[in-house]
Amino acid sequence: MNKEIINFTDVSIGYGNTAILTGINISIAENDFIGVVGPNGAGKTTLLKSLLGNIKLLSGRISKDDLRFGYVPQRDTVQPLLPYTVFDVVMMGRYSLSNSFKRISAEDKRVVEESLSYIGMSDVKNKNYNSLSGGQKQRTLIARALAVEPAVLILDEPTNGMDTPSHYSLLELITRLHSEKKLTIFLVSHLLTDVANIVKKIMLIDKNYFQFGDIGEILSEENLQRTYSSDFHISEIDGEYIIIPKHTKIL
Ligand code: ADP
Repeated sequence: MNKEIINFTDVSIGYGNTAILTGINISIAENDFIGVVGPNGAGKTTLLKSLLGNIKLLSGRISKDDLRFGYVPQRDTVQPLLPYTVFDVVMMGRYSLSNSFKRISAEDKRVVEESLSYIGMSDVKNKNYNSLSGGQKQRTLIARALAVEPAVLILDEPTNGMDTPSHYSLLELITRLHSEKKLTIFLVSHLLTDVANIVKKIMLIDKNYFQFGDIGEILSEENLQRTYSSDFHISEIDGEYIIIPKHTKIL
């Protein structure tokens, strides 16, 4: 069992007087690979922003030592008005480490180049970010998060709106970040089949409903029904999960 790096103790999250989830007591271990799943408005973003420290907890405590977090937001939320290059966008990850716009050091440049190379974008580093395809933008945002040199990476619906090859190559990249770079990963996605086949643990979230554990333990038709208020069929073919809504006719 890997070392525990994040502990939630009696955590309640929400806004003002409105609690969304209460009584969360969980531990996250080094190199955990966690799928975060639940309907729109369930509280996934609220939970992750609470973990990042961007939203104040209603009660309880999250201990996370001095971990560095890399956050990859939904692609649509990042639309720079200035003609930033891919390199500039990734360098923003380095700026986020200090409070002011300090001078770029040789070390900053090295880490940015390494992040670009790891995600396979070195050859387009001088291109305008806004001119990139959806898949390239997503990779750039992942490189920006890697430039922070994080221990924990949070990805919010990274494969949304991508064509099939880009989609699968991105899932392959995320899997490598887990296995090669040994990052602890939170992957928010609506694509249940994808999530189930790549992560090791899963969080099922709906308002006032929270389950977390090994995928084999938590992923069940009953728990998905409780999460989505809708019936799902889970089957396994050659060790791969296929999850589809029940009563769906596939022609
Ligand atoms: P998800 O990420 O699962 O779609 P969110 O965490 O964004 O869900 O939202 C959970 C609930 O909190 C929703 O009902 C949403 O309307 C509400 N909410 C989100 N942001 C705020 C906010 N800043 N103030 C008050 N309520 C919010």
